[in-house]
Amino acid sequence: MKKEKDDKLGKIVSLCKRRGFIFPGSDIYGGLSGFYDYGPFGTDLKFNIKQEWWKNIVQARDDVVGISAAIIMNPKVWEASGHLSGGFTDILVECKKCHQRFKADDFEGICDNCGNKEFTEPRRFNTMFKTFVGPAEDSASVSYLRPETAAGIFVNFKNILDSTRIKIPFGIAQIGKAFRNEVNPKDYIFRTREFEQMELEYFVKPGEDKKYFDEWVDLRFKWYKDLGLKNIRKREQSKEERAHYSSATVDIEYEFPFGWKEIEGIANRTDFDLKTHYEHSGQDLSYTDDSGEKFIPYVIEPSAGPERLMLAFLCDAYEEERNRVVLKLHPKLAPIKVAVFPLLANKPKLIEKAKIIYNNLKKYFITAWDDRGNIGKRYYSQDEIGTPWTITCDFQTLEDDTVTVRDRDTTKQERIKIEELKNYFFQKLNE
Ligand code: ATP
Repeated sequence: MKKEKDDKLGKIVSLCKRRGFIFPGSDIYGGLSGFYDYGPFGTDLKFNIKQEWWKNIVQARDDVVGISAAIIMNPKVWEASGHLSGGFTDILVECKKCHQRFKADDFEGICDNCGNKEFTEPRRFNTMFKTFVGPAEDSASVSYLRPETAAGIFVNFKNILDSTRIKIPFGIAQIGKAFRNEVNPKDYIFRTREFEQMELEYFVKPGEDKKYFDEWVDLRFKWYKDLGLKNIRKREQSKEERAHYSSATVDIEYEFPFGWKEIEGIANRTDFDLKTHYEHSGQDLSYTDDSGEKFIPYVIEPSAGPERLMLAFLCDAYEEERNRVVLKLHPKLAPIKVAVFPLLANKPKLIEKAKIIYNNLKKYFITAWDDRGNIGKRYYSQDEIGTPWTITCDFQTLEDDTVTVRDRDTTKQERIKIEELKNYFFQKLNE
C-alpha cells in the first residue's frame, strides 16, 4: 500500500515536469533545495486556486477588503511579533556523522541520510531569511524576508480603518510570497522555502470570537468541498500544539500519499497581534464602535498556501484508467478550460472553421488548439492536464454549424450549436 502511494506521488512529480506544471528551481544548475518554478500549466493552476480564494473571501463579501503589503518590512515588526525573540524558531538536532539537521519534534532517532544514531543536543534555529537593506551590510541595515503575510495586515489595520468605511466585524485579506528557511524542505511542493500564503485576518469584538471562529472553520471547509476536494478532515490542535497566541486552532487536513497533513490552519489569534503592535509602535490600534465602546479587536485567521493546496488538488485529481491518465480537476481550477480540434489537419475548410471557434472562445476562456496526430492522442494529452471539455470540428460542422463537445470525466460527447458554446461553458463552469 505504501509503495503504491509513493508511486502515485512519483507519477505526479513526473507528469508535472513533463507537462510543464512544476520544475525544480534553477533546474539547469542542479536545482536548489526547497525552491520550485512553475511552468505554464502550473502557473494557471496556482492562479486559479488564488482567484477562487479571492472571489470567495473578498469579491463575494461586503465585509472584507484586500491589501498587498511589502515583503520586506521594518525589522521592528518582527521584534514586536515575537518572530525575532524565539517565536519563529525550530528546535534542531544535528547528526554527528553527516551533519544533516532534523527538527527535534519530527525526528525518529536515526539519521535518514546516513543511518547514524548519534546526535547533538537540541538547539534553536531561526527560520527567517536575513537580508540587508541598502548598500551597507551592517547590523543597522539587517532586515528579513517575511515568514508569513499576516504581519503586513496587522501593521495596516489603522490605515484601513482610516481610509475605508468598513466596520467591525470585518476582514483584511492578502495573497503574497512568504519565505521560511525550513530545515527539511520535503514532500515535493508541500514544504518549500519560498511559497505563497493566502491569509485573512477577520477582526471581531472580544466575546464574539468563538462564534466567528466556528463560522470560519465551516466556511473554509465548505470551500474545499465545493471545489470537489475529497479526503479532507478537520482536526483541532491540542493546547500543547497551538502557537502561544492562539486560543483555538483547527487544521484542515488532506490525506496526501505521505499521510494526513495540514493544508490550512484557522486560528483564533485573540488580541495578541494588535496589542503587541500597539505597545511597540505607540500607535493606537484600538477600535471604537458606534456606541462609543473602545476595545482591541480579536482576530480570526484562516491561512493557507496555494502551492500546498495545488499538491492536494493534484493528488486528488490524478486517476489512472484503462487507457488514459486523467486529472479530474474541478473545471474552475483546470488550467485549460476548452481545447478545440479540427477532425483532420489537412482539410483547410475544417481548419478555418475550427480557428473561428477557437479565436472566439479564447476571448472568454483559456482555450487550447491542437491539430497534431490523431484525435485519440489529442484527447489523451488534454485529459492528462485536466482539460474538462474538448471540441471537435468535423464534416457535419461545415453543414449545420454544430460541433461535438466531449466531457473529460465521462468521455461522452454531445452535439452543440457553435453559437451556444459560450453560454454552454459559462453554465457548466458555474454549475
Ligand atoms: P507546518 O506545521 O506544516 O510547518 P505551519 O503550521 O507552520 O505549517 P502556518 O504557519 O499555519 O503553517 O501557515 C499556514 C499555511 O501556509 C499552511 O497551512 C500551509 O498551507 C502554508 N505553508 C506553511 N509553511 C509552508 C511551506 N514551508 N511550504 C509551503 N506551504 C507552507
